[in-house]
Amino acid sequence: MKFTKPLSLLTGAALLLCSSVALANRFADVQVNATPLKDSVYMLTGAGGNMAAVATSDGVLLIDSQYAELADKIRAKLKTLSPAELTTLINTHMHGDHVGGNAALAANANIIAHANVKTRLSADNNFDRAGLPKTTISEKTTINHHGVEMVLEPMPASHTDGDLLIWFPKQNIVHMGDLMFQGRFPFVDTNNGGNVQQYIENTRYVISKIDEQTQVIPGHGELTNKAGLQKELAMLEQTLAIVTAAKQQGMTEAELIAKGLGDEFKAWHWNFITEERWIKTLYQAVN
Ligand SMILES: [Zn+2]
Repeated sequence: MKFTKPLSLLTGAALLLCSSVALANRFADVQVNATPLKDSVYMLTGAGGNMAAVATSDGVLLIDSQYAELADKIRAKLKTLSPAELTTLINTHMHGDHVGGNAALAANANIIAHANVKTRLSADNNFDRAGLPKTTISEKTTINHHGVEMVLEPMPASHTDGDLLIWFPKQNIVHMGDLMFQGRFPFVDTNNGGNVQQYIENTRYVISKIDEQTQVIPGHGELTNKAGLQKELAMLEQTLAIVTAAKQQGMTEAELIAKGLGDEFKAWHWNFITEERWIKTLYQAVN
C-alpha cells in the first residue's frame, strides 16, 4: 500500500510525457504545400484550416496560421514563394486550427481579424498574447498589400461570431474560412455565436457574389468553385428540411440519429462532424 501514491504519480507523469510526445508526433509527417492560384496568391495546406498567402517581393501576407507546431514548416514554405518578410497575417476566425501559429509566425507582423476574434482570444488565458490581433475589423474594409487588393468582409454570425470573408476582386478568388467545409458537413460553433440558418444564408450570399471562374478557398477540404458551393448549399438545405420535418412530426433527436439522413448524405460524414453530430446541430437549430 505504501507505494500506491508514488506509483500513481509516476503513472501520471508517464502519461503526460506520452501525450505530449503524441502531440508533437501528430505534426511530424505533415507537409505544407502551396498551390499557385493567380498572380502572387497561393493556397497553402498542412494540418488544420487552409491558408492563403500573397507572396510579393516586398512583403508576404498570410491568411490563417494553423498550429504553432507547424510554424517552421509554414515559414520555410513561404520563403520558397518569396524571400521577403511576413508583414501581415489575417485570421478568418478564432478557432485554434486557424490561429494556433499566430505568435510563432507573426509576433512581429500586423495581425488583422474581426473585432470579436480579439475579444474571444483575449479571454482565453492559454492563448499567447503575442498572437493577438493588432488591427480589428468591424465593417467591410479594403486593404492593399503591395498592389494586391483584398476586401475583408465581416459576416453575420454563422460559423462563429467573428467570421471574415477575404475577397481578391482582381484575381477573382475568395477565402471563405470555415464558412465553407468542402465536401463535408460543416461545423457550426453555437458556443461561439454560430448559427445554422445564418450559415446557410451566408453560403447563398457568397454564391450570389461569384461567377463560374471564381476560385473558392474553403476553410477545410479542396480548392473549390461556385458549383462546389451550390452542391454544399443543396446539402445544407436538404438536411435542414429533413430534420425540420422530422422534429415537427414529433421524432426525437435519438430516433432521428437512429434513422439517419439517408444514403445520399453519407459522403458528407467525416471524423469531426459525423452524421450524428450534424443531426444534433440541426435538431437544436430548428423549432
Ligand atoms: Zn473554425
